[in-house]
Amino acid sequence: MTLPMVEKVPSLSWADAPAGAVVGNTPLLPLRRLLEKQGVTLWAKAEWFNASGSVKDRPAQEILRKALQEGRLRGRRLVDATSGNMGIAYATFAAAWGVPVTLAMPASASPERIAVLRGLGAELVLTDPETGVDGAMAWVASQVERHPDRYYWANQYDNPANWQAHFRTTGPEIARQTAGRVTHVVAGTGTGGTLTGVGRYLRSVLPDVRLIGVQPAGSEERIPGLKHMATSRRRPAVYDRGLLDAVRFVRAREAHEMARRLAREEGLFVGPSAAAAVWAACEVAAEVREGLVVVILPDAGYKYLSSPLWAPKETAV
Ligand code: PMP
Repeated sequence: MTLPMVEKVPSLSWADAPAGAVVGNTPLLPLRRLLEKQGVTLWAKAEWFNASGSVKDRPAQEILRKALQEGRLRGRRLVDATSGNMGIAYATFAAAWGVPVTLAMPASASPERIAVLRGLGAELVLTDPETGVDGAMAWVASQVERHPDRYYWANQYDNPANWQAHFRTTGPEIARQTAGRVTHVVAGTGTGGTLTGVGRYLRSVLPDVRLIGVQPAGSEERIPGLKHMATSRRRPAVYDRGLLDAVRFVRAREAHEMARRLAREEGLFVGPSAAAAVWAACEVAAEVREGLVVVILPDAGYKYLSSPLWAPKETAV
């Protein structure tokens, strides 16, 4: 087989590829084994197909591109708080576009995330795990106030470019991939950007679509990427609670159980927040008579290999 010739070396980075080539245009996969119910189908948006491996490529690329276009990064470092995936996405595009990055995250972040971020050359600040992402945000806020000329605060929690990325891409993709037949969207909420953007777009074209947010069932239930809004210090501006029809609460144990089922019954090796969303989507599907339920799967399971989630059950002989 002859490979096509590369006619000329592109002058821009790979990260400037046309919309949908390296970010977005992710597949929508049917979950046929998990849900066997007449009249209801469950479809999963596989966001680990994005370039840096998670849903966060969409807002990170949008936020960085906007900051570059507006000239906010001249001589300054991009800084933000993250629980992991947004950091990996920032660090990926920042490396491709030659932007220095500083990321604050709780020291409890998985060793896989920390290793990837170090590998991508980001400067890391590990904050007190007891204070979670709120503590990382407080560190960023204090540094930005002290050194406004050194840092550009991307602020994924309040930056409208976060939800706008999903309004421009994820929402239209779901409408197109379901030929407008989607009835419910179920998504975990961290910043809320995914569900706000997808929801605002879909409501504009399909006013009856139901939007269901998924949160951990309490502050003690740790599901990486998801926020228990009631006990967090500050609600992100990007999170639009008024848009949602319902919020469902999932325990870490339930998310882990579902992650293993998805791996073994569907061949989908996903992270715990994806599994939590599928848990909630199955509850929704069980309660409706008919519908097409779309669930967002933010990332794959590889960043969680050190978590007890995947602990082998085999006994040594
Ligand atoms: N799951 C994972 C693994 C994530 O990293 C994030 C982002 N924090 C989410 C879910 C939630 O996405 P959003 O911030 O758009 O609400």
